[in-house]
Amino acid sequence: MSEPPAKKMRLGFENFAAPLKVTVGGSEKQDFYINKEKICLESDFFKAACKKEWSSGRDNVVDLEDDPDVFAIFLVWLTTGSISAAESLVDIPELPKVPGSKRKLPANIKYESSPEPPTDTEPTPGETRRQLAVKLQQYRMRFFQLLECYYLGDSLQAENFRNYIMDRTVGLLKSRNKFRNMSFEAGEKFTVLASHHLSIMEIYQRTPPNAPLRKLLVDYHLEIIGQTHVNEVALDMEHHPQDYLQDLISQLAKGYYNVAPRVSFCNKRRCTYHNHTKVPKGFVCAATRL
Ligand SMILES: [Zn+2]
Repeated sequence: MSEPPAKKMRLGFENFAAPLKVTVGGSEKQDFYINKEKICLESDFFKAACKKEWSSGRDNVVDLEDDPDVFAIFLVWLTTGSISAAESLVDIPELPKVPGSKRKLPANIKYESSPEPPTDTEPTPGETRRQLAVKLQQYRMRFFQLLECYYLGDSLQAENFRNYIMDRTVGLLKSRNKFRNMSFEAGEKFTVLASHHLSIMEIYQRTPPNAPLRKLLVDYHLEIIGQTHVNEVALDMEHHPQDYLQDLISQLAKGYYNVAPRVSFCNKRRCTYHNHTKVPKGFVCAATRL
């Protein structure tokens, strides 16, 4: 098994020249100064924009209308190989241990929306329930933030970043699923992410056919919501994107005709949700067996 192609950075005059200025945002712009060689290695968009035939390449300034917070996450990945240190990344709090229990949370935990009195001792089950609701909300926000990172990876044509974001998205869904069998009350419940037709519509509008994100979404919906979801979609087909219906039917047919063994999206090889379009012949992704 060969290793992924090494990104070799050779040091030339460019490395010691003025960094590339990238202005990011809508009406309020944020300026970033970036090593041009490094960003061009990971983004085909920047590679093209930095060519001398474009004014951006001659002026050494690239303008983007993306969200600066999301772009900053991309830069943290570019610098560290991970997004964990990004300041703008939605935080997912750790849940405290329930007193007297080795488990972090009891099974069939009940959620209460009424506020609990503050305490400086160990958290009460009520507090833990409230923290669980916060945690689920943070998971949700992180999920949609990861989607924004994915779209940015698409527009910057940064394949390695997009593959990394897919790994993080699968990891988040897997981790969040651990709470799915807990019962709630007072209006709070475990919901399947992006199952509303408007969320599905947005994902399909912002991704091309055969996008790994679409593939993951369909696998996730079929596995976690299952028959209920299929029935609901069947009754409301006009509000769902046609491509989504096709993907759903295609996956259902594979299961029905036993074309492929059913494997949870959590346990599929990570490379299932990658794209590798710019690799040399014989390349095998390091995540193929993971
Ligand atoms: Zn891969």
